[in-house]
Amino acid sequence: MIIIKFGGTSVQNEEAIGRVISIVKSRLREKPLVVVSALAKVTRLLCDLAEEAEGQREENVKNLLKQLRERHFNLAKNLLAARPDLLEECLAKVEERIAALETFVGGICLIGELSPRSEARIISTGELLSSTIISYAFNANDISCHWIDARRMITTDDNYLNARPDMEVTEANIKRIVGLEYRGADLVLTQGFVASTEKGATSVLGFEGSDYSAAIFGMALGAERVEIWTDVDGIRSADPRVVKDTRKIDVISYEEAAEMAAMGARVLHPLTIEPARKKNIPIRVLNSTNPSCEGTLVIRGDQSPDGPKSVAVRDEILFVKIVSPKLDGVTRMFGKVFAALYPRRIPVVLAKATESEVYLVIPEMAGDLLPEALEEIGKWAEVTTYRDKAFISVVGRNIVGFEGLGDKVISVSGKVHLANVSANMMSENFVIDRDRLQVTLESLHDYIFKVNN
Ligand code: ASP
Ligand code: MG
Repeated sequence: MIIIKFGGTSVQNEEAIGRVISIVKSRLREKPLVVVSALAKVTRLLCDLAEEAEGQREENVKNLLKQLRERHFNLAKNLLAARPDLLEECLAKVEERIAALETFVGGICLIGELSPRSEARIISTGELLSSTIISYAFNANDISCHWIDARRMITTDDNYLNARPDMEVTEANIKRIVGLEYRGADLVLTQGFVASTEKGATSVLGFEGSDYSAAIFGMALGAERVEIWTDVDGIRSADPRVVKDTRKIDVISYEEAAEMAAMGARVLHPLTIEPARKKNIPIRVLNSTNPSCEGTLVIRGDQSPDGPKSVAVRDEILFVKIVSPKLDGVTRMFGKVFAALYPRRIPVVLAKATESEVYLVIPEMAGDLLPEALEEIGKWAEVTTYRDKAFISVVGRNIVGFEGLGDKVISVSGKVHLANVSANMMSENFVIDRDRLQVTLESLHDYIFKVNN
């Protein structure tokens, strides 16, 4: 059994779904469970729809619903042109879902109030629609496909928009339901991202959550591998939108991939790694527009090579310097700082302390309570917040064995405000001036991946 997950761009239109069908066809012997995202940009549209409804902007709501309907209707018509019988059935199901959404959103529009629970219900529609159409497309291509509602399988807490699964219950559900319903079908198809709470309300796994769903299905079913299909040739040595001449990473460990995600690289949903690692299931990141490329293999550390894998960046950060007038010592310094941060749930990317100073890297979107937390710290220390810094990381196991990274960063950026090797030795991080980020990034990437190769 294998899991094949297709992201939004891999199912965005008729041609893309044509590629999906041929990819899946070539793997039918491996008994695939196929997981799909919403069509590209549809989740975004649904978020807008929720917001417009809350703001009671009826015209905009109508408009967005119209776009949603047209996009899915046209896709179904194009895919199923040769099978009017299936088309009729498919359109009826699509319409049923959109009509239900319309009614629901109409209610939100009336009261002008949107709860996370209602929002989850609205944005889950994208995957329910895409998977419905794709299941008909499989059947029209003589691949017998059994559609399962992921909400019957993934059971979560009631943090509706960023829900976390109860793994025990979820694993049992998946085994039972997929086991029963696979019989007789060539494949089983379900949705990424979408889940439900114990009480049966719809929840979603957070932005980009479909990767996470795929890994959960893989873990529960003890899959041979999880394939994540996107529109780039695997995981890259840097973000190709920012750096020219990036290289494909052939093999990377679970830990390094998780570190990359934590350090700001937009690779896999950060939680995806955990279920796969738990059962040692290889993940392959592949390109649906270039299916013969082998992509990137994510596996156990002892089976993957050491050394730098990629350069990641977080530019939406705050750099906070806290200086105490007394020599408080590291323990007290940390204790006092986190006593202010922790109760307010302020996320911290990196913290370093000396006897009288603490340096923090905090995401810009750390929440409304950050000013209050810093004010509290300001009662006993001098607090300076810099908004013009960026956080750059080189990720790779045993990164310290790779010489010259610090020298390179200092010589190009002009000044390093903070340097750090992560405790797991998986990344070397630097806080630099944001206006030096691009040049530093490029020359660091060149230094690691060109000069030394
Ligand atoms: N459709 C969801 C999103 O855009 C989930 C996913 O595609 O991974 O975040
Ligand atoms: Mg994705």
